[in-house]
Amino acid sequence: MRGGSVAVVGGSIAGSAFARAAARQGAERVVVLERSPGLLEDRGVGLCMQDARFAELVDAGHVPADVRRHRLALRRWVTRDDAPGAGDARGRRLWTQPFEFHSFHWGVLWQSLRARTPANVEFRLGTTVTEVGGDDDGDGAWVADGHGAREPYDLVIGADGYRSAVREAVCPQVGPEYAGYVCWRGSYDATLLEQLPGGARAWPEEECATVCYPGGQVVLYRIPGVDPGTTQVNWVFYAPTPAWLRLSGPTSIPAGALDAGRAGELAELAERRLPPYWAAVVTLTPPERTFLQPIYDLATPRRTAGRLLLAGDAATVVRPHNTSGAVKALQDAHAFEEAVRGADGSWTAALSVYERERGTAGLELVDLGRRLGAAQVVDAPDWSAMDESAMADWWHRQVTGSGGFGGSPLGSRPGT
Ligand SMILES: Cc1cc2nc3c(=O)[nH]c(=O)nc-3n(C[C@H](O)[C@H](O)[C@H](O)COP(=O)(O)OP(=O)(O)OC[C@H]3O[C@@H](n4cnc5c(N)ncnc54)[C@H](O)[C@@H]3O)c2cc1C
Repeated sequence: MRGGSVAVVGGSIAGSAFARAAARQGAERVVVLERSPGLLEDRGVGLCMQDARFAELVDAGHVPADVRRHRLALRRWVTRDDAPGAGDARGRRLWTQPFEFHSFHWGVLWQSLRARTPANVEFRLGTTVTEVGGDDDGDGAWVADGHGAREPYDLVIGADGYRSAVREAVCPQVGPEYAGYVCWRGSYDATLLEQLPGGARAWPEEECATVCYPGGQVVLYRIPGVDPGTTQVNWVFYAPTPAWLRLSGPTSIPAGALDAGRAGELAELAERRLPPYWAAVVTLTPPERTFLQPIYDLATPRRTAGRLLLAGDAATVVRPHNTSGAVKALQDAHAFEEAVRGADGSWTAALSVYERERGTAGLELVDLGRRLGAAQVVDAPDWSAMDESAMADWWHRQVTGSGGFGGSPLGSRPGT
C-alpha cells in the first residue's frame, strides 16, 4: 500500500492478523485499539483447526508452522447406556469418525500471532472504541474512544468480535441471534485425570469425544497447556437455557462468576445425562475454570462501507459446532492482504475486492452451523436407536449442502 494509516479495533485473532497484513503491505501507521488491558491469554480456552485449513494458512504465511498444537485423529461419538449389565463407564459407542484436526490453546495461538506483528504496529491496550464513522467524502474514517476527539485514519478495520462497534456503522440493522441454547465450558490440567478410575489412559490422547444426550451434547478434547510440555482437558457442554439466565444481549458468564448453586446445576446435569467417566471428567473442573456462553450466530449482508471494513466474528459468527471461526478470521486477513497487494495504492479498490471476495464468506458457514446445531442439539435423534450406519447417514445429511465442516478452503468463493 506504501503509506496510509489504519486503525484496527480489537486485538484478538482477527485483529492481530489484520494488523500484520496491513503493516506487511506497507501501511505507514497501524494502530490496534484493544479494550482488554492485558494479555489475552486465558480467553476462549481451546479451539480446533482442520489440518488441511491450517496447512493452507501456514503456506500463505498467516500462522507460524511451529505453533504448539495437539494432534487429534478420531472423533468417538458415545451415549449413556442404562441397560442392565451395560459395563463401559465411557458409554455405548455410536460411531468412530476420522477427525483430521489439531487442537490449540487459544492464548498460545494468539500469542504466536501477536509475536509476529511487526514492531511498528502500535498496540493501545485498555482502549474501548465507543464510536466509528466514515468521512462524508468517503476518503477516510474515524474512531472515538469517548475520552477525546475523533481520530482520523485512512481505513478502520472492525475486528471487535460479535458485539462489534464497527458493525454498528457498517450494518446497523444486523445483530447476533440467540440459537436457543447455551454452552458451558471448562478446562484444567490433564494430570487431574489420574484421579479418575481408569485414569488418563481410559481416554486416548488423539480422541475427541462427543457425548450425546437428549437435549444436547458434550465435546471433549485435550489442548496444549500454556507452558510447553503440559496438556489441558477442554470441554464444551451444549445444554438447554438455564431457567435463571436472563439474556439482555450476547454476553457470557465469565469464569469465576458462577456461584456454587449454578455450578451444582451443571454437575447434576452431567451426572444425570452422561456416562460416568465423562460426567467425572466434567465435574473435575475447578469452578474458577468453568463458564457459560450463550450460543449466537450472525450473518452480515456486507463487509465494507466507505473506509470501514469488518473482519472475523465482527462480520459473521458461526455456531461452534463447525470449528471454523479462527480459520475464517485468518482467511479474512489473507483476502485483505491479497486485495491490498493488488490494488495499486488505492484503498477504495482494495475494499471493493475484499467485499467481492469475502462479502458473503461465512454466510454458508452460518447456515452449516445452524444445520449442525439443529441436528445435534435442538432436534437430535433418539440416541438409543442409533448405530454406526445410522450415525454415518445422519452426519452425511448435515454436511451435504453449503459450507465446509471446519471451514472452506483458502481462496474459495462461496457457492463455488
Ligand atoms: C464455544 C466456542 C468454541 C469455539 N471453538 C472454535 C473452534 O474449535 N475452532 C475455531 O476455529 N473457532 C472456534 N470458535 C470461534 C473463534 O474463537 C472465533 O471465531 C475467533 O477467535 C475469531 O475471533 P475474532 O478475533 O474475530 O473476535 P474475538 O476473539 O471476539 O475478539 C474481539 C476483540 O475485540 C475486542 N473488542 C471488542 N469490542 C471492542 C471495542 N469496542 N473497542 C476495543 N476493543 C474491542 C475484544 O476485547 C476482543 O479482544 C469458538 C467459539 C466459541 C464461542
